[in-house]
Amino acid sequence: MKKIAVLTSGGDAPGMNAAIRAVVRMALHNGLEVMGVQRGYAGLVNGELFKMDRSSVSDIIQRGGTILRTARCLEFKQEETRIKAANILKAYGVDALVVIGGDGSFMGAKLLSKLGVKTIGLPGTIDNDLAYTDYTIGFDTALNTALDAINKLRDTSTSHERVSVVEIMGRDCGDLALYAGIAGGAESIIVPEKGYDKDDLCRVILEGKANGKMHNLVLVAEGIGGSNELAKYIESVTGIETRATILGHIQRGGSPTASDRVLASRLGARAVELLMEEKTCRVVGIRNNEVVDDDIDEALAMERKFDDKLYEIAKALSY
Ligand code: ATP
Repeated sequence: MKKIAVLTSGGDAPGMNAAIRAVVRMALHNGLEVMGVQRGYAGLVNGELFKMDRSSVSDIIQRGGTILRTARCLEFKQEETRIKAANILKAYGVDALVVIGGDGSFMGAKLLSKLGVKTIGLPGTIDNDLAYTDYTIGFDTALNTALDAINKLRDTSTSHERVSVVEIMGRDCGDLALYAGIAGGAESIIVPEKGYDKDDLCRVILEGKANGKMHNLVLVAEGIGGSNELAKYIESVTGIETRATILGHIQRGGSPTASDRVLASRLGARAVELLMEEKTCRVVGIRNNEVVDDDIDEALAMERKFDDKLYEIAKALSY
């Protein structure tokens, strides 16, 4: 192993820069050369590679987004595109590629490894939707961003004695909504893993009002969606003024939390160690606070477990 490359792919996540920094610095520490690839697989196919040194990753650990930029590249699903990518890496003398992204990006990495490029994946997504790792890089920062917004909405919701419906990102994974809900003291948390009944929700809101609650926070995961319609429905049934707020892409930005920076540094360093051991087609993650690595196929086949216990606690604490 002499030369590696690193790219970020799929949706951006805070902490991707800390992961890039860890990969670059650990590679240099081990005497490897490093190239950065801009704009994910799209940039790889276009030959957007450049040499990176220590200073290429100076002053980025605290920055959100990704200095390498990211992109979605649908053509990468076609073998001829991947062959082109493998040939470009070969032309640059690159032996291995570290891919920071989500499950789609890992699939691309797996298929690329079949063409002789060693690949290692790092979980960069705010959604926390990868079963093989307890946490993904970006989740904690997005959670804290959502929590900050919820705290502010609670102030205005209380002042006006309104119901506040807040839509949180996470796509089909309810973790962001669940954690933000429990940390923000939400009255109701609606996630795809559990579903909900609209009329039950209205009953809980009315009971809360009768018990003297000054506000009511309803968190809705992106995978459920329809927050504006839900707010109208709640208002029509309960007679309580209800506003919906969709937090949206705000949750993808911002300076990464300490937790995300530490996680990114640990996982990034491990990715390089694996490559030094000539490992390929693996993803790095964290389970029970131990850094682990798994075969990409096995990792993608693992079934995500929703934290039912935490959901029940959130419910019990909300009355
Ligand atoms: P996020 O969770 O943030 O959406 P992701 O990595 O899952 O991240 P995707 O858009 O699904 O995001 O995938 C990123 C890129 O990975 C795609 O644009 C494409 O280039 C590549 N990719 C995705 N799926 C495949 C596949 N089945 N085969 C080859 N490449 C793929």
